[in-house]
Amino acid sequence: MVKSAVLGFPRIGTGRAIKKAVESYWAGNSSAEQLAEAAKAVRKERWETIKNAGVDIIPSGDFTLYDHLLDHSYNFGVIPQRYVEQKLSGLDTYFAMGRGKQDREKGIDVVASEMGKFFDSNYHIVKVDHEPSTEFKLNFNQQLVEYEEAKALGIITRPVLFGPITYLSLVRKSRDAPADFEPLQLLDKLIPVYKELLSQLKDAGVEAVQIDEPILVLDKAEAYGAEYKKVYEALAPVAPKITITTAYGRVGKSLDYLKDLPISSLHLDLDREPKQLDAAIEAVKDTKLGLELGLISGRNIWKADLKAAKALAQKAVDVIGTDRVVVSTSSSLLHCPISLKVEKKLTAQQLSWLSFAEEKCEEVAALAGALNGKESALFEQNTNDISARREFERSSDPAVRERVAGITEQMLSRQSPFPTRREAQKKLKLPKFPTTTIGSFPQTKEIRQARAKFGKNELTQQEYEAAMEAEIKYAVDFQERIGLDLFVHGEPERNDMVQYFGEQLNGFIFTQLGWVQSYGSRYVRPPIVVSDVSRTAPMTVRWSAYAQSLTDKPMKGMLTGPVTILNWSFPRADISKEVQSKQLALALRDEVVDLANAGIQAIQVDEPAIREGLPLRKADWDNYLKWAVDSFRLSTSGVGDDTQVHSHFCYSDFGDIFPHIQRLDADVISIEASKADLKLLDVFKTYGYSNEIGPGVYDIHSPRVPSEQEIKDRIAAMAKVLPVDLLVINPDCGLKTRGWKETEESLSNLVAAARWARETF
Ligand code: GLN
Ligand code: ZN
Repeated sequence: MVKSAVLGFPRIGTGRAIKKAVESYWAGNSSAEQLAEAAKAVRKERWETIKNAGVDIIPSGDFTLYDHLLDHSYNFGVIPQRYVEQKLSGLDTYFAMGRGKQDREKGIDVVASEMGKFFDSNYHIVKVDHEPSTEFKLNFNQQLVEYEEAKALGIITRPVLFGPITYLSLVRKSRDAPADFEPLQLLDKLIPVYKELLSQLKDAGVEAVQIDEPILVLDKAEAYGAEYKKVYEALAPVAPKITITTAYGRVGKSLDYLKDLPISSLHLDLDREPKQLDAAIEAVKDTKLGLELGLISGRNIWKADLKAAKALAQKAVDVIGTDRVVVSTSSSLLHCPISLKVEKKLTAQQLSWLSFAEEKCEEVAALAGALNGKESALFEQNTNDISARREFERSSDPAVRERVAGITEQMLSRQSPFPTRREAQKKLKLPKFPTTTIGSFPQTKEIRQARAKFGKNELTQQEYEAAMEAEIKYAVDFQERIGLDLFVHGEPERNDMVQYFGEQLNGFIFTQLGWVQSYGSRYVRPPIVVSDVSRTAPMTVRWSAYAQSLTDKPMKGMLTGPVTILNWSFPRADISKEVQSKQLALALRDEVVDLANAGIQAIQVDEPAIREGLPLRKADWDNYLKWAVDSFRLSTSGVGDDTQVHSHFCYSDFGDIFPHIQRLDADVISIEASKADLKLLDVFKTYGYSNEIGPGVYDIHSPRVPSEQEIKDRIAAMAKVLPVDLLVINPDCGLKTRGWKETEESLSNLVAAARWARETF
């Protein structure tokens, strides 16, 4: 019999139960016991959902109140001294490690651990500091506790945990650790804790465990053969049967050593990398190893093509038999919204395209059933839905496709090279060390209230627009008063930098409750690209033109770039991301041209996600960077030399992709740099970056006001690394999260420091 499995399920609970419970606990409105009860209820709901969907192998131990990598660190007793010193309860220590804690009256002040993106998803893990002296001790066997909890409900589960090599590859190396230290060097100290944890599971009667080793899809893992052998030879004798999972990509050459490990089965991501199946079948056919086929995507929200999945799985069944094959999700379902059942505004047609976590559980079960000779009603319905969807895809929007097919090299280039454009842009009359901001100004309570009221029809269109215009006027007057040089309108009308555009473009749909965890208690509701993308009408021109009408200073238009819109949405699965990105780029290109025609002389196209979209395997980088950079160029090259094109990136760490940043050929880029070491700017010098650049001079993520002197020092340090005539003075991004008071104080100091720089350099 082919069995079905699910690697993990969203942890946030129906109705965002966990967010509500933890935030209420943080605010002091509920007790630790109440939080524990809420968590227990969500775990029960998850197990029952998966079980009722008919899945055979149900995960446990993958629940978390904040982040599951943080859970491992905490459970393994890795609690850096700075948290121990606060003398908090266990639970509060855990949350402090995740999000920091400040309580001046009680003398508590400790910063959070670093956060990092989890592979190429938009989920963020908490990376606790490790150093050579780090010791591990099993403080809490979460996998055992959750296993017993489910068992008491009559549900037998497969406990889930990160493998030791993946764990050590994901955590952070402490800043104080010696240069040659890597957390992976702690492996010998960590193995005994895993042995203890797994043998406790075995003693409790656990039959099988799921050990997540997603690090295996990275290039570097190809060199870890000896480590993997050591770890699994140590664990196998004391552990329940082990399945190693490898989500988010292909295992590549690592398969050579994986096939010899003393484990019972290997999971592969066949949603992203179906081609790896043949090699895997070949590798295991003369061994006892089973294959767990990750055929149902854990990353997208599309209904799976079950017939195609069945055909793929059949290949494995034909060679190694039904008992060695399990069908599964490609990764944990934590990247998907929980259920389609709560969506009341999607049409029947849209619903027939989609599948969220609950529906994916049903798909996995239906797939296993079909392989076992029982094609359920769901399987039949799926076949119909998929062919209707294919029909829809084919007939989507021929005009858009023609336009993409007609993109020429010329459309990817500005009229003249940067030095010529720079001359033409003198008409903006910007001084040396021009000052500007990254786009948003404080999103006050009033702004959010006006938007909410407009959404509920309590404000008319006219009233809402008047309220936004008043905000823009406030922002323009503010910039005038404090003396900035290149203005922005402040983005009050935007709920979110991606959703705002998605809502105005053809080709996107939105859920009401499709929340997905981004980090901790922060959840997002990504738009879904369902068909060819085009622009129906100008999207931002009205606001930018209004802002420009209020001042003689140049106003910078503000758009989100194609790669970022795509990366922060659920893309289509039937056409490549490249094509979707180019469709978006063409829509934005029209907007850029319209802005310029409306008298906007500088236009910023934000691409904060361009770096995070990098593929996991280096072999795939060039292809991605080619279309990503081309998309940016396509969106910004429709204007004359005298329009100053800006872009913005949330990271300054560009060493490995530098030539591509140069190839964007933006006239000005701003980067988030205040927290980074200025050494990162060296790469701009080393490579001789030729265009203008504004490294953030102060951190915006805290209400702290930087002094004028601090900013002067920062500018002086920057001037040592970069040519002064290319420097632009701006803060980091994210002013929308700040209040007006600290914004005014900070930016006044920034303006004063820039004036000083003009006289000094
Ligand atoms: N223009 C956006 C803003 O200032 C950029 C946000 C970002 O970099 N993520 O809010
Ligand atoms: Zn940014």
